[in-house]
Amino acid sequence: MGRQLAERVTSLKPSATVEMTERVRAARAAGRQIIPLSSGDPNIATDPRIIAAAERAMRSGSTHYGPAAGLPALREAIAQREQARSGAVYDPADIIVTPGGKFALLTALTAIVEAGGEVLVPEPGWVSYGPCVRLCGGTPLALPLLDRLDMKVLERAISPRTKAIIINSPVNPTGRVLSEQEISGLAVFAEQQDIWIIFDQVYCDLLHAGRFPSPQALPGGRERTFVVDSFSKTFGMTGWRLGSLAMPAGLSKAVLKFMQHSVYCVPDFIQIAGIEALSLYDEIVPQYRRTFRRRLETAITGLSKIDGIIASMPSASFYLFPAIAADDVAVAKRWLDEIDVSSLPGSSFGEPGAGHLRLSLTCPDADLEEALDRIARVGLAA
Ligand code: PMP
Repeated sequence: MGRQLAERVTSLKPSATVEMTERVRAARAAGRQIIPLSSGDPNIATDPRIIAAAERAMRSGSTHYGPAAGLPALREAIAQREQARSGAVYDPADIIVTPGGKFALLTALTAIVEAGGEVLVPEPGWVSYGPCVRLCGGTPLALPLLDRLDMKVLERAISPRTKAIIINSPVNPTGRVLSEQEISGLAVFAEQQDIWIIFDQVYCDLLHAGRFPSPQALPGGRERTFVVDSFSKTFGMTGWRLGSLAMPAGLSKAVLKFMQHSVYCVPDFIQIAGIEALSLYDEIVPQYRRTFRRRLETAITGLSKIDGIIASMPSASFYLFPAIAADDVAVAKRWLDEIDVSSLPGSSFGEPGAGHLRLSLTCPDADLEEALDRIARVGLAA
């Protein structure tokens, strides 16, 4: 016993994406010209009007503690955005503002997972799901979900201890949008099993084609769904730490106690910037979307010429998840060591991602062109 760190943190694996970001930072500091195709942080400078709104708010005294649930005007604006997007109607009282989507996820899990409770977690999937479940004393159960949902696999994965299923659409790392059929299949399954759904839609504003089905829009779906959303990817506001959690009616008062006793509140001036961001949505978000779409097309054209790489257009996001005819860990390592291009092995998002790379098109166009040239020069067998 004695002075030991709790297993809660010692047992966690470090985040593969954060580790790669740190490695790239260190390599750059050492003078290497790394082109990062590994970061989930888009190279969008926050619109100056959003920054000005935060600055004005700070100068006029919005520098105190605010309401734990968030500013009513922001919660109202988030509810309106959700209704415009999915048709789901929320009372702003059922939405709380959180420091980023990640904390919205942790808040939802804290509210519903008891010690020993299990949560189904998609794979390949975002690297923080499993660790967040563990931080709440729960056990993540992997749900293989690469390119389609197999209901039989889902039925085999669940147990009487399962409390919730995390669904992420559009998917990090593949950019896939789950189909209407998959979402309604999952919602029916959750209803039959009487489990919660945590729906992570942080990339939903970066849709390139088709529709975006969500469980909270289905009849009966809202009552069992916690919706995780964020300003990070939509508005190039990753560093502002601004997100939200929309929940079934009547739960927010109890859930809010976790906010009150932890981070308390998101700074008012950040939230005021969020209100400004939402007011600029129609003007700025379509441009970001076009930029990412163009980059995805450029990358697919470049990669398709290379032996052993199959890349296809994702329905959303700035991620490409090409299949490669080689060991993904070895290729990512070689590209970093030999051509100074950072990517992430698909297997770092769970075993079903093996044999793929996640390429994040978050760097400037010229850097992407250069990275594609370097990759074409060495191919998979660098
Ligand atoms: N969900 C997914 C799928 C993500 O990829 C991320 C960020 N990489 C988040 C949630 C959290 O984003 P943030 O905390 O910046 O809102």
